Amino acid sequence: MELRKTFQIEAAHRLPHVAPGHKCGRLHGHSFVIEIAIEGPVDGHAGWVMDFADVKGLFQPLYRQLDHNYLNDIPGLENPTSEHLAVWVWDRLKPGLPGLTEVSVAETCTSRCVYRGR
Ligand SMILES: [Zn+2]
Repeated sequence: MELRKTFQIEAAHRLPHVAPGHKCGRLHGHSFVIEIAIEGPVDGHAGWVMDFADVKGLFQPLYRQLDHNYLNDIPGLENPTSEHLAVWVWDRLKPGLPGLTEVSVAETCTSRCVYRGR
């Protein structure tokens, strides 16, 4: 069984490695949508893979670091592309959430990247 949970963060960034004049080099913000997927067996007694509230609790420290902040200032996110943000989230969630199988980061309604640990 797979669980999916979505979090939304509001954050500013700029991409330091784009070509001069590229719009992503300018300071701007996104309503990033971060979705995580967790796989595991359904517990026979509880009837769930895990409590969604526990998933939220595990994400909470990351939410506090990311939401309404300038991503470039966060260690590990000096070049805060969606790809790097997905890996950053994965690296911090996976140790406490071994069933994690996917982190996706959408920076707009039409642009999204998916990381599956490789
Ligand atoms: Zn951007």
